[in-house]
Amino acid sequence: MITPVLPTYARIDLQFERGEGCWLVTTDGRRFLDFTAGIAVNVLGHANPYLAAALSEQATKLWHVSNLFRIPGAEKLAARMTAATFADTMFFTNSGAEALECAIKMARRYQYVSGHPEKNRIITFEGAFHGRTLATIAAGGNPKYLEGFGPDLPGFDQVPFGDLDAARAAVTSETAAILVEPVQGEGGVRVPPAGFLAGLRQLCDENGLLLVLDEVQSGVGRTGRLFAHEWTGITPDIMSVAKGIGGGFPMGACLATEEAAKGMTVGTHGSTYGGNPLAMAVGNAVLDVVLEDGFLDRVNRVAGRFQQRLAELRDSHPAVIAELRGQGLLLGIKAAVPAPELIAALREEGMLVPGAAENVIRLLPPLTVSEEEVAIAADKIEAACRRIEARLAADPVKGAAE
Ligand SMILES: *Cc1c(COP(=O)(O)O)cnc(C)c1O
Repeated sequence: MITPVLPTYARIDLQFERGEGCWLVTTDGRRFLDFTAGIAVNVLGHANPYLAAALSEQATKLWHVSNLFRIPGAEKLAARMTAATFADTMFFTNSGAEALECAIKMARRYQYVSGHPEKNRIITFEGAFHGRTLATIAAGGNPKYLEGFGPDLPGFDQVPFGDLDAARAAVTSETAAILVEPVQGEGGVRVPPAGFLAGLRQLCDENGLLLVLDEVQSGVGRTGRLFAHEWTGITPDIMSVAKGIGGGFPMGACLATEEAAKGMTVGTHGSTYGGNPLAMAVGNAVLDVVLEDGFLDRVNRVAGRFQQRLAELRDSHPAVIAELRGQGLLLGIKAAVPAPELIAALREEGMLVPGAAENVIRLLPPLTVSEEEVAIAADKIEAACRRIEARLAADPVKGAAE
């Protein structure tokens, strides 16, 4: 019999009653170190008192009015985000996929109002993840997510990630834009080769294309800069953001330069909830903390320490850890055993991590994680490695087969 909640997730049988920073407490009192953080969402940890105060204060005043009226919190957040980034303007959404929908529409519309309605195709990359709407599954191109939901939305041309020559060869007179994650998250924490984003930027400039970055997972401090593209020295024309931007309150955004947004005039796009006062109160509070002097320096320091410990673990546990990936606190371990085994062993040690493609587990702690907590995490990973090694030693045939 079907469950009352549509069974599209194979859920882990854990129920949490509350969270405290990087820790989750189950209804039966067990504590877990949470390096899932709601899939890179809870950037300031669970039950952050500053965010809770911002949300409760707004909740006593005004929840929702719609975009038929001015929303001071949205104007304030947009002014601050555009001041802190390449962007001149932004549209608020409720999720990452909606932020991508806005980005895709904006890129096509830009070409349309520039006199190039034929330029409506977008180059995307293998292993990409852009969401689960009809347009974003077409953009992501993952056959698993497309199967049975046809007809596939046309307009996307996919090439291998990190392959600049393939991207160049895919440009036609119908290309409008290139859409890429600076670091692929769901795709397996894949950091592209140095120069890849700069090469795409140049390719766009040479061909009148827009560069659209999907920073839904890599943004809001996750890699140690406010946005991951800041490490590369280039800026996009359009950028989608979500996950961390609301610290756990559902929200997203599409940011753009004035030029890229020139087609998005009154009536061209909308959202009932997007930028609602509750979300904006939390979004402004998240930004207060992330933009504080020293916040990102601390993220980089803790990330560096964690990466150092992980490198030691890779060297001492090659039977479990095949490879380390990532940047800042968007980290991955490519497992030498089936990744679900490592995820389960970590759970037995009291630590929660999500998986990713390419047999990778992700390490996505809240950005407020302390040096002590990454040390605890490293100890738990080591204990999980030992647990698996003991199992392999007890059953070498099975171990070899895997
Ligand atoms: C999670 C994610 C999305 C989709 O966000 P939703 O809020 O689930 O719609 C899009 N792009 C990237 C890179 C993501 O990691």
